Amino acid sequence: MTTAAFSSLPLLPELLQSVESLGYQQMTAIQQQSLPSMLAGKDVLAKAKTGSGKTAAFALALLSKIDPVSYHTQALVLCPTRELAEQVSKEIRALARFMANIKLLTLCGGTPIGHQINSLEQAPHIVVGTTGRVLDHLQRNTLALNKVKILVLDEADRMLDMGFEEDIHQIVKKTPNTRQSLLFSATYPDAIQAMSQRILQTPVVIEVETEH
Ligand code: ADP
Ligand code: MG
Repeated sequence: MTTAAFSSLPLLPELLQSVESLGYQQMTAIQQQSLPSMLAGKDVLAKAKTGSGKTAAFALALLSKIDPVSYHTQALVLCPTRELAEQVSKEIRALARFMANIKLLTLCGGTPIGHQINSLEQAPHIVVGTTGRVLDHLQRNTLALNKVKILVLDEADRMLDMGFEEDIHQIVKKTPNTRQSLLFSATYPDAIQAMSQRILQTPVVIEVETEH
């Protein structure tokens, strides 16, 4: 067994099974470097190029933290666009396929808000969404984030480019300070550094330059 084997990590058997069923034979570099810290509950700031497997990295960390019998939103993933939120939701669902009763809801614009409000009546364990629609639900009191244990900012550099910084801070303010925070980015401009200082607590910083 190499250190790149998913089975070298303290992962639930259900997650090892889904990783295998997806045909992921070994961890990519970013997964190998970030998962031990994430699974240990640390805040992580991870920079790695597109296509390096960042989604599965945070998805496995997030799914490890969900208590399926606690009917609250325990994980929040913010993405820059609807397309990305849908891709992330798909990957989390694929990795959760052997875990019983995990409810995930994708909250993006372009979908009637009434349907989302109905779906939120039973709080999903995981919310993946774009900042605008998540903020909209917070303002309507249709989404509660006070039980969030893990927050993920995916493609944080793109969210900053799109001008979502203040929206992100407004959303983060509604989550407990005791949460674990993970920030993923393909680039590392000064603005990411500044955002990380406001949101992350003594993060482990990981930078992967190689392909895999
Ligand atoms: P990023 O978010 O870093 O741009 P993605 O998370 O979208 O990259 O991953 C890119 C592709 O790699 C996806 O199709 C995903 O299913 C696949 N992938 C992720 N982890 C592994 C792995 N350990 N082994 C093989 N393929 C993987
Ligand atoms: Mg990605």
